[in-house]
Amino acid sequence: RRSVTPNSRTHSDTYNNDEDSGRVRVAVRLRPKNAEDLHLDADFADCVESQPELKRLKLRKNNWSSESYRFDEVFTETASQRRVYEVVAKPVVESVLGGYNGTIMAYGQTGTGKTYTVGRLGKDDASERGIMVRALEDIIADRSLTSDSVEVSYLQLYMESIQDLLAPENINIPIHEDPKTGEVSLPGATVVKIQDLDHFLQLLQIGEANRHAANTKLNTESSRSHAILMVHIRRSIHDKSDEITSHGKETRSDLLGGNSIPRVRKSKLLIVDLAGSERLDKSGSEGPLLEEAKFINLSLTSLGKCINALAENSPHIPTRDSKLTRLLRDSFGGSARTSLIITIGPSARHHAETASTIMFGQRAMKIVNMVKLKEE
Ligand code: ADP
Repeated sequence: RRSVTPNSRTHSDTYNNDEDSGRVRVAVRLRPKNAEDLHLDADFADCVESQPELKRLKLRKNNWSSESYRFDEVFTETASQRRVYEVVAKPVVESVLGGYNGTIMAYGQTGTGKTYTVGRLGKDDASERGIMVRALEDIIADRSLTSDSVEVSYLQLYMESIQDLLAPENINIPIHEDPKTGEVSLPGATVVKIQDLDHFLQLLQIGEANRHAANTKLNTESSRSHAILMVHIRRSIHDKSDEITSHGKETRSDLLGGNSIPRVRKSKLLIVDLAGSERLDKSGSEGPLLEEAKFINLSLTSLGKCINALAENSPHIPTRDSKLTRLLRDSFGGSARTSLIITIGPSARHHAETASTIMFGQRAMKIVNMVKLKEE
């Protein structure tokens, strides 16, 4: 039996109508033109046109025709970090505060604004803060949580190895999956209790520095790895009114003779800044190099396959194929809520990558019932 907290569905928005609450929400964000776009693009007209009021994005196919795609939300280049957070992430954060698992992911070609959207610290200007910081801000502000009930781990996934960004010598962290509950955890990862927002900002900064150092050592770019913030929330349930079962008012404590026994409800939020989605074998590499390219992108490719399988209602969802999809297993299915933000640039020079990102987002929009992921 599943219990439902009364406040797990709150005000947020139309983004979240309950009709198809199991569906992955997909938003697209268009990056403002950068200096390169402005200088080199004389011959390349913009390849996309956003129509935010229609929640549509037009992609130009050639000089004569364009295709229009619908998303849950379309953010133009002027969209604020605050608005992106409120539409894309806040409903997931609220759901996690209500006791469910949730995932927020950013997908797109390198340089299109994934890290800006998700990981920006905004130290000098709070209006620049990205989703990770704003999510923790909301979680910390939840007065019903005690100070020891919010914990985070911060990880990097590269070449199918999970590295602890809070203790970088700790690489190859194994994934544990509870055979009974299906709960996925990383017993070897550093877990830090968050005292306040400043504390969290410091941790993120340490994580970023470690990520940078690790990638310099490996001679790779951070665009090749996934950054994963895992937030664990524990909340005690004392009050009978806090828990309403699917059968109505009856609570667990009623069943146990009326004593209010404090119980703990755990939930988990994953915020993932995915590796760049661009093809790595573009340069025509062969042999070992191509093999390496495939391995680097294994998790991303596997995520794509799971999304395709889910979108096609396939009976087999290949979640076991990569570390990323294994990590997402209990946060990306069943009652868990998932938001995907895809990021694109405006220039026609990257038409192929932009088109492929849009198609990824379109397929994810079709995922209606993700319960299957748990049943595999
Ligand atoms: P990615 O993580 O996808 O590789 P970044 O987040 O690093 O891309 O963004 C690339 C550059 O574009 C950065 O300098 C970033 O500050 C800038 N940028 C991205 N999105 C925006 C935006 N919405 N507004 C202003 N600058 C942005």
